[in-house]
Amino acid sequence: MAASSLVFRLHDRGPELVREVLLERGWEEYDGGEREEKDWNLYWRGSAFRSSEYHNLLPWQRLNHHPKTIGITRKDFLARNLRRMRATCGSSLYDFSPNAFILPNDYTRFLTEYKKLHAASGSSVFWICKPVDLSRGRGIFIFEDIKDLVYDCSVIVQRYVSDPLLISGYKFDLRIYVCVKSFHPLTVYVHQEGLVRFATEKYNLSSLHNLYAHLTNTSINKLGPFYKTQKERVGQGCKWTLSKFRHFLHSQHMDELLLWQRINNIVTLTLLTIAPSVPSCPNCVELFGFDILIDANFKPWLLEVNYSPALTLDCQADIAVKKGLVSDLIDLMNYTSADGLRERAYQNHECKSSCTLHKSALSALQEPHLQRTTGNIQSSQTRTLPPLKPLHRSKNVNQRQSRRDAFGTNYHRRLPPVDLNRSKVFTTTAVNRTHADKTLNLIFDPQSRTNESVVNRHLRPGLVPWLKDNRSLHVSEVSNPDSIETEAEGKLSGMSDVCSRKPEIAQRTTGFRRSAVSWKLPNIYRYLTLRYSCVFIRIGSHASTAATPPSDVTTTTTGQRVPPLRVGDFIRTFPFNRASLKASQHKLDVKSVVHELQKTTARLISPQSDKTKNRREEEEEEERRTMESDHEEEFDSLFWGPTDPPFISQSR
Ligand code: ADP
Repeated sequence: MAASSLVFRLHDRGPELVREVLLERGWEEYDGGEREEKDWNLYWRGSAFRSSEYHNLLPWQRLNHHPKTIGITRKDFLARNLRRMRATCGSSLYDFSPNAFILPNDYTRFLTEYKKLHAASGSSVFWICKPVDLSRGRGIFIFEDIKDLVYDCSVIVQRYVSDPLLISGYKFDLRIYVCVKSFHPLTVYVHQEGLVRFATEKYNLSSLHNLYAHLTNTSINKLGPFYKTQKERVGQGCKWTLSKFRHFLHSQHMDELLLWQRINNIVTLTLLTIAPSVPSCPNCVELFGFDILIDANFKPWLLEVNYSPALTLDCQADIAVKKGLVSDLIDLMNYTSADGLRERAYQNHECKSSCTLHKSALSALQEPHLQRTTGNIQSSQTRTLPPLKPLHRSKNVNQRQSRRDAFGTNYHRRLPPVDLNRSKVFTTTAVNRTHADKTLNLIFDPQSRTNESVVNRHLRPGLVPWLKDNRSLHVSEVSNPDSIETEAEGKLSGMSDVCSRKPEIAQRTTGFRRSAVSWKLPNIYRYLTLRYSCVFIRIGSHASTAATPPSDVTTTTTGQRVPPLRVGDFIRTFPFNRASLKASQHKLDVKSVVHELQKTTARLISPQSDKTKNRREEEEEEERRTMESDHEEEFDSLFWGPTDPPFISQSR
């Protein structure tokens, strides 16, 4: 059977950039008139998916949103979640977001704080008021006096960071792109390239109404009178790439490592607020836009998290950043040519003894005849698939690949995070593997969250005896999602989604179960996965010798599976060491993660304070570091930030 193209489906025909990148990579666009409903590999929406779309997801399909992420992408939900984390983890850890009040509910609390600050502070205190579900700067105003606070919808009033770092007198913020590849286990990548968004008039606290001086949204500033003017160091327009910003920092002899580490921490700590309540969905990937403001003391502040960061190309900086970003995101999705076969991988083979596979795979697979069917698959000896070809990649992509190869990462394309025990399938079933297996094992979604109890609960006598006997085998468990394209749409559609603080509402409106851990794929998915695994095993039975682990992860000597360090310009920021990997493998241990994060940051800060330490302290410190780096040797972790990021262990 010839390999087929991968097929993408764009909701409402956008975003155009995603279409362009995918077509360039040899994908085909879904056409409802010509293809069956399920005949696609990637469904991209600006807005949230319905829960049924998550439930009916097939193994070769991916969605561009996880479910239930609105807990950080809507301003009021984010404020509430951060407040909750402040209460449980300490306000010093969660002090990266300006204090916020959700009005009208928090009006009394706001009033108390307002009075307290105005009485205590010698200098002025400023506030910013933002509608909770609007984006692109719409409806925002800044005020000093409470009598200027007027609102007619739900808003958040936030402490205004009134001493921002300025470049030639202009305010700016950073748009950081973050990809959550998986929430279970938590796997996070931050893109090295991003955007710096400038205000187009000089910052001035005596003109609070001048939005061109106080807001950094492109949608506002491109309408300003000075957008096209050459503005000292800033130049024309209102955007820089993050690389250009780094050059600026170097030219100012500013130490950027600590800044990037702090931004990493913000990303991780923000995601921790919702991670335990997001259902597991290994076939989903989500791109978030984190907006970060840096103040005059070089402290980064989180302003908001964007659900579907804009992928429109307004200027050169957009082109330089967003095309590579989308391409790297597709790489993170781990498609292989077997995904291009879609259901034909199950239909058209000479599967003579496994009769039910001749029929429409989809309808057959939805029949509850699994005991007999799966058993037949397992006994069949005849089925073979041709060797799989690598997917077509653009020249640009190839260059990027060589860059990452040169970087020494063990990167291969395949589906998401992983069942640590999957390799046991091969060893315990005494199956030898070929090169072809390596490509095909994507089918048994190596990134899938697995759960032994699920297998044990659902396997019945007669169903794949070796599966049943082998208690170490785990089967994929997939969960639900949500998402969009313009930021505004995203937030609005997010309204249909559920705040993680209100799981009971979530259950009612979307059918999600209360806990991420308890959420299970619909039966069809589990059975499909079983079938896939059988196909895989059988094909592998022609093969050579020992089992090898899936190639998109590194397996440590202790059996832990580490996601790739770098995919294109995406740098893995979580897990960032062995302890954080362990703390996120099963039930996310937020406390341990926070502890590790603090340790890592402290190490980065410590060299500066080393000068004041006496010799003995220095020796002890050195000894500890050596021991820790020995321990960490199987777990490489990069700093995100510098253009050629050093390993964390090297930069201490
Ligand atoms: P939107 O979703 O409408 O873009 P944001 O929260 O991102 O809303 O705010 C828009 C802009 O306002 C930001 O890009 C930033 O320039 C400015 N801003 C927002 N909050 C603050 C704040 N607390 N302190 C200083 N500036 C802020």
